[in-house]
Amino acid sequence: MATKKIHDFTPDKNFTKLLHGYSGNVVNGVGENQNRRPSMVWWAPDPASAPFGEAQKWFYSREQPDEEMLELRKARHEVVAQPTPEVADEKKFREPHDWTAELQQFITSGDCEMTGVTPLDPDWVFDHEASALPNIVMLGVQHDYDELKHVPAIKGGKDVTRQYLRAAAAAKKVAAWLREQGYQADAVTGPMTGKILMIPPAIACGFGELGKHGSIINQEFGSAFRLSAVLTDAPFASTPPREFGIDDFCSRCRVCENACPPDAIAPEKQLVRGVDKWYVDFDRCIPYFAETSGCAICIAVCPWSLPTVGLSLAAKLKRRAQRLASDAANKNTETPLSNQ
Ligand code: SF4
Ligand code: SF4
Repeated sequence: MATKKIHDFTPDKNFTKLLHGYSGNVVNGVGENQNRRPSMVWWAPDPASAPFGEAQKWFYSREQPDEEMLELRKARHEVVAQPTPEVADEKKFREPHDWTAELQQFITSGDCEMTGVTPLDPDWVFDHEASALPNIVMLGVQHDYDELKHVPAIKGGKDVTRQYLRAAAAAKKVAAWLREQGYQADAVTGPMTGKILMIPPAIACGFGELGKHGSIINQEFGSAFRLSAVLTDAPFASTPPREFGIDDFCSRCRVCENACPPDAIAPEKQLVRGVDKWYVDFDRCIPYFAETSGCAICIAVCPWSLPTVGLSLAAKLKRRAQRLASDAANKNTETPLSNQ
């Protein structure tokens, strides 16, 4: 795993000229103080229609995939192209909490490792898209850390594709299950999601918190997981967001900042479309991301991603929070000497 900063990284001119002067930070709304819907910046399903489409195609022309990678990619395309069943005429009735509990079957069967549900916020839908479906089911699949740790080498990249394949297959399976029970359901698969942002609904449904590296941190899987989703009108009960001190932890940790070769990870939060949050400098990240066929160093080096480390870090943060709360409570109940 590359953890040493490459201070003299210079983007390939053949890549930068394909950006035609566009700034991904501008497209993403860095510095904007008004909330607005996001615009597509990278991983456009149709590169010809996106400002960064030519640069996106360079990503594929640059890489040298081996046979296994080509097979994985072909398998993912086949899964994404699979037709979903027609929506059944009759709707199956379940209480909302029972619908949500039923999602556990996809974890038990090994299709995914995480499920959650949240109402779809229109602000998560790209500004050129629309969705009339009120709920979003989120699915998370865990990386094999022993493979992921090799990024940006192809061995690590293959696990990224392998997990996107699993995530796509899980989303298709959940969508088919819902349709067979009489509900609208559209699978959304990565990395070319096309329609919605994935990270905000994953945070809203309890998968974790946003880390300084711009990805989610989950207490069990760290950032070593991938997402897919299903938009649906099935009447699920929502799963609540969960916080366990990541935001504060990231403000004191610099591991990903130091490991990012092009210095794309800033020490402070930034204002993005009206929200102060951790943000990766797109214009610095993307040339290295493209040259290495997907980079992912920041998620692999994050201490939370190391197997079993996340849960013990979360337990430690919980004990710390309890100690601070207890100290504060004791302070409040102390009687000043002057009142005795
Ligand atoms: S993916 Fe981007 S932000 Fe993360 S380490 Fe690589 S270049 Fe840096
Ligand atoms: S490496 Fe440290 S600062 Fe970066 S996301 Fe992980 S915990 Fe946060």
